[in-house]
Amino acid sequence: MAFGDRPPDPDVPIPCSDCGALIDLDGGQFYRFGEEGMLCWACATRRGGTYDPDREVWTAPPSLADLPELPPED
Ligand SMILES: [Zn+2]
Repeated sequence: MAFGDRPPDPDVPIPCSDCGALIDLDGGQFYRFGEEGMLCWACATRRGGTYDPDREVWTAPPSLADLPELPPED
């Protein structure tokens, strides 16, 4: 394990990997992927993501095509 690799700071907003909008990690909805990838609600849903607010899970993940942070392939 390596330490000192930009530890996540909850006070620093993370930009959406698609549109660059800063994502509110406290109150807003977002989709997290890969190491540091984030999609804001608007981009995640526009890309086909479906969120189930009752179960708090993404029942269909958004398409991650053309994004800089791709999740590892299975
Ligand atoms: Zn976005």
